[in-house]
Amino acid sequence: MYGITKYTMPTFYKSVLVEIPEHQVLSEVYPERIANQLTLEERLPNSECEDCKSTQWIILPKESPYTRDSGKPYIQCMNCGNFTHL
Ligand SMILES: [Zn+2]
Repeated sequence: MYGITKYTMPTFYKSVLVEIPEHQVLSEVYPERIANQLTLEERLPNSECEDCKSTQWIILPKESPYTRDSGKPYIQCMNCGNFTHL
């Protein structure tokens, strides 16, 4: 019989934003031994979004395609949605 397709139930996940103290940002996304050799100033020199000048960033979860496929800790501007990485 045609026309009978079973609806595939999607799976949803929610993410919860928690502010991270500035000194913990790099160790949140890099192994501690690597984080110790980096500074936020060198990883994100302007601190602000190139497009909208916001300085608020969302760290994408490690499961997100950007982060998973690139191996880099991707961040997204909370204001305009622009992506970059640390
Ligand atoms: Zn922006």
